[in-house]
Amino acid sequence: MPQWGMTIDLDRCTGCEACVVACHAENNLPVVGQAEAAKGRAHHWIRVERSWEGEFPNVKARFMPVLCQHCDAAPCEPVCPTYATYHTPEGLNAQVYNRCVGTRFCANNCPYTVRFFTWFDPEWPPPLDEQLNPDVSVRSSGVMEKCTFCVQRIHKVQDTAKDEEREVRDGEIQTACQQTCPAEAIVFGDLSDHNSRVSKLARSNRAFRLLEELGTKPRVVYLKQEDS
Ligand code: SF4
Repeated sequence: MPQWGMTIDLDRCTGCEACVVACHAENNLPVVGQAEAAKGRAHHWIRVERSWEGEFPNVKARFMPVLCQHCDAAPCEPVCPTYATYHTPEGLNAQVYNRCVGTRFCANNCPYTVRFFTWFDPEWPPPLDEQLNPDVSVRSSGVMEKCTFCVQRIHKVQDTAKDEEREVRDGEIQTACQQTCPAEAIVFGDLSDHNSRVSKLARSNRAFRLLEELGTKPRVVYLKQEDS
């Protein structure tokens, strides 16, 4: 059974945010607008954290794309009263929308702030409705949602491989953020395959996990910048 994971090379990331746009398009994410964002309701399954290092004039911008870390010891899972968030056998932190009753305990318990509540039914005025992805549900108000590692793409490739009676090839599944990243900073694949690209990168001496001291065991592995 594959164990899905991702690496993000911070030495390659330029902070362009193409990954954010790609995720919106792929996963039917609404754009909430300035007023809602000002209330702390910005809604992105992946965001690019920006920070500055050093003193003027020797200042360096640092970027870090942050998405659901699909933690093996996910703090969001035990606090859900309806088991709407759970761990799949392939290591995904899954969210069952029609079980979610909107308590938001999971978001409060997530140290990465990557879970989002749908405060209103999303609106898709024409022609925006034309771009909705038919492989992904449009979530109604009152549920929690977050990055799925593009689970619809995973299933599509797995179905094709099954029809062709073969294994899924390394690199055959690409998440939307990965596919769009012009710097090829994002790599997705099977961490249990010792020879997969993602697995080799995850063993790099530049590898670290975000807030790993909390014991969450994230499946997203970051690669440090060479000069940091
Ligand atoms: S698309 Fe790639 S380079 Fe641009 S912000 Fe995302 S990870 Fe970084």
